[in-house]
Amino acid sequence: MMADYDSIIRNAYSTEHDQILDIGITDGTITALDEEIDAAADTEIDAEENLVGPGFVDSHMHIDKSFAACGERRPKGNESAFDFSDIKTREEEYFADASVEDITQRALQNIEMAVAAGTTYIRSHVAVNHETFGLQNMEAVTAARAEARQLADLQLVPAARHVPDAAGKELLSDAIELGKRDESTGEAVLVGGSDPAGSNKDIERTMEAWFDVASEHDVGLDVHIQDGGTLGGYTLERLLEYTRENGYDGRVTASHCFCLSHISDWQLDELIDAFTAMDANIVTCYQSTRPSMPVRKLLEEGVTLAHGTDNDRDFVFPHGNADSLEGALVESTKLHGDRTFADDYRWFDTNEGLGWLWRMITEQGAAALGISDQYGLQEGTPADLVVFDEPSPQWAIISQATRRYVIKDGVVVARDGELVPEYKVTE
Ligand SMILES: [Zn+2]
Repeated sequence: MMADYDSIIRNAYSTEHDQILDIGITDGTITALDEEIDAAADTEIDAEENLVGPGFVDSHMHIDKSFAACGERRPKGNESAFDFSDIKTREEEYFADASVEDITQRALQNIEMAVAAGTTYIRSHVAVNHETFGLQNMEAVTAARAEARQLADLQLVPAARHVPDAAGKELLSDAIELGKRDESTGEAVLVGGSDPAGSNKDIERTMEAWFDVASEHDVGLDVHIQDGGTLGGYTLERLLEYTRENGYDGRVTASHCFCLSHISDWQLDELIDAFTAMDANIVTCYQSTRPSMPVRKLLEEGVTLAHGTDNDRDFVFPHGNADSLEGALVESTKLHGDRTFADDYRWFDTNEGLGWLWRMITEQGAAALGISDQYGLQEGTPADLVVFDEPSPQWAIISQATRRYVIKDGVVVARDGELVPEYKVTE
């Protein structure tokens, strides 16, 4: 008998439909969603009424730095506490020694770790540096992207430490060209950077440079805004003003935004209005999310707030397993709030709060990456799915559910937390 579908996942609980469904997959696409599909398939998976969700969206990684702090008995970045000036030197030494092939292999190792944990979409920042290692990391990461295409879709965000001068701008421009060379659907390239004030010491010239390069190549922006307090708040105001002036609505992401946990309510309210008016996104990463960040308020007021693991085991963060579900659990614990304010106290432990954390690692991420129309359990979207051994997002986060199957374009690429051997991309 001819199979009607390549695969069918039966008895799948979909949280977006709040229903138990059968999912029919043909040619890598979801082609049927029904209470019961009366047909046969070459491959059938019984989800046993457990959760089946779309692949996680990891909205912030630095896969060019993957495993930079490994290779010794203890993490080699952990001999002293975080010191940014020291980290810059260590990174530059590391990149000076590493070959393109080394960086490619470690990036692939990180992608494999993320995919085994259920991630099928990644946005990764990539360092470029006109004084030292040039485009080497961008070359490595574009090679890794091509190599790992059957595992995950990658968006790349080249970022120069200093962009305002001509050499920095040109290198950033070259990095965008390189990233676009074998661009395919869903694998965008964006302009990155960090801290126009704190790092670049010139907010206006830095933003002009970013938007110049982005407009020239018609790509979006995702920039680190890590400056705290009113300086960070002012930087975000300027970023959103540049967004408006350049007609960049819906194409700008501000990563981290630590200042949101420091500024006054009126400034926060003004910024939230500007973010929603410009359809601009925020990405927070569990390792660095400030416990007082107004995550709940941002979500409830309609800001697209996505999540990244930032898990690269590099000199900045030696921890983590590139596991978005782990990130969601840590966030729920970290964002406890203060018992004095009963509304917020342990709100991220409630089913509603855990539900929002789930959305941050799934649909909010898809919105930030601009891929909402190709994402989720809908007929016609790519069959990028995860079958869990728990019945809901809430239980999946609490119990750190087993990812029984990770399915990319209709193909099972990982089982029970391990990559299927034939889909391994590392050597
Ligand atoms: Zn970052």
